[in-house]
Amino acid sequence: MTEIDPIPLAQLTTLRVGGTPARMIEARTRDELIAALRECWAAGENWFVVGGGSNLLVGDEPFDGTVVLARTRGIERLPAPSPARVRLRVEAGHDWDDLVAYAVVEGLAGIEAMSGIPGSAGAAPIQNVGAYGQEIVETLVEVELLDEATGEVETVPAADLELGFRTSVLKHHYGQAPRRRGVIVSLTLELRDVGHGDVPVEGAQLRQALRLAPDAAVSLRWTRDTVLATRAAKGMVLDDADLDTHSAGSFFQNAIVSASFARTLPPECPRWPMAVTVDPVTVIPLAAFDGVVPPPVSVQPDVKVSAAWLIEHAGLGKGFHLPRSRAALSSKHALALTNRGGATAEEIAELARFIQQRVQSEFGLILQPEPVLVGVEL
Ligand SMILES: Cc1cc2nc3c(=O)[nH]c(=O)nc-3n(C[C@H](O)[C@H](O)[C@H](O)COP(=O)(O)OP(=O)(O)OC[C@H]3O[C@@H](n4cnc5c(N)ncnc54)[C@H](O)[C@@H]3O)c2cc1C
Repeated sequence: MTEIDPIPLAQLTTLRVGGTPARMIEARTRDELIAALRECWAAGENWFVVGGGSNLLVGDEPFDGTVVLARTRGIERLPAPSPARVRLRVEAGHDWDDLVAYAVVEGLAGIEAMSGIPGSAGAAPIQNVGAYGQEIVETLVEVELLDEATGEVETVPAADLELGFRTSVLKHHYGQAPRRRGVIVSLTLELRDVGHGDVPVEGAQLRQALRLAPDAAVSLRWTRDTVLATRAAKGMVLDDADLDTHSAGSFFQNAIVSASFARTLPPECPRWPMAVTVDPVTVIPLAAFDGVVPPPVSVQPDVKVSAAWLIEHAGLGKGFHLPRSRAALSSKHALALTNRGGATAEEIAELARFIQQRVQSEFGLILQPEPVLVGVEL
């Protein structure tokens, strides 16, 4: 574990904002990562972990505590659970896209649609990363979690992380109480061993993004290359030279609203029904059973609505910025707030608040930020 001279978080976050913390530790091995956090917890210090810094909006004021940089690396192939399946254990600090590239080279399917998502593997479960309909919840088996409550590393099954739409029990803005507080040390994924030939593409959303017919078959390599090109065209692959990528990706989440609220929105607003959570078994006590099975209660599923559409139709088009502000919407994607050079965290937050207010007054809902906020309030 190496304590280093703290550097501004603006140099470590893809939004390029954030003050200099009081203390900074670089952890290059899992033992160093565990020791660093145990030390912070024993001392009662404020702390947070930074992986790739691609889902963080950190305030301009110095963070009064310790920032632990997760710089661990490594992919380990575990014994196969079945002939067609492969399990990989990945250290938390390992670069996510490097992991996807590895899987594709090895002919392992399940994460190829998430090519090009920046950041570390350890942060991927925090908000259940996903793209084009593929999410880590589909392949995550378990994580090794250093639990702040016990100080011990526990193996936590994916089901206990409550991975949902860009959320999990571990995700929280700094200062808010998470449902569970801890640090992912490693994660285990289970992928399908499909080799290097052409295979059918699962998921209508992915096939649509790749412009493939339902019966089309392509290689994992082709899917990865096409996803990377599609994302790059939207400024969603990090590129120092492209200011549209100086962002945290999508700044606002697509809004999840009730079916009845969705009907109040203009019909052109893109929307997708969420999966219905159905009570799988309704038990009728024998004594109460009169021979008549009640009809199932019809539950109208919640609806996910396009935040990008709401922003653009609230009059805030791509490239929008407030007067004299160095923060602007990406010129390629209305959901990405970008730093056009030298913007402060407060300028980013000011633009975010303005967008929230405009969308709320136009459509009556408050967009929620996707990045984790540290020392910033919207
Ligand atoms: C250009 C661009 C495109 C993006 N596209 C997508 C996309 O398509 N889909 C998507 O889902 N996201 C996307 N994102 C968001 C981001 O890349 C992901 O959320 C990513 O998983 C964040 O990883 P990170 O290592 O950078 O996390 P960081 O920003 O370093 O941290 C994010 C949060 O996770 C916590 N954290 C980090 N490591 C750990 C750990 N080991 N254990 C516990 N907590 C930890 C941090 O404390 C913080 O709260 C995009 C971002 C950018 C900049």
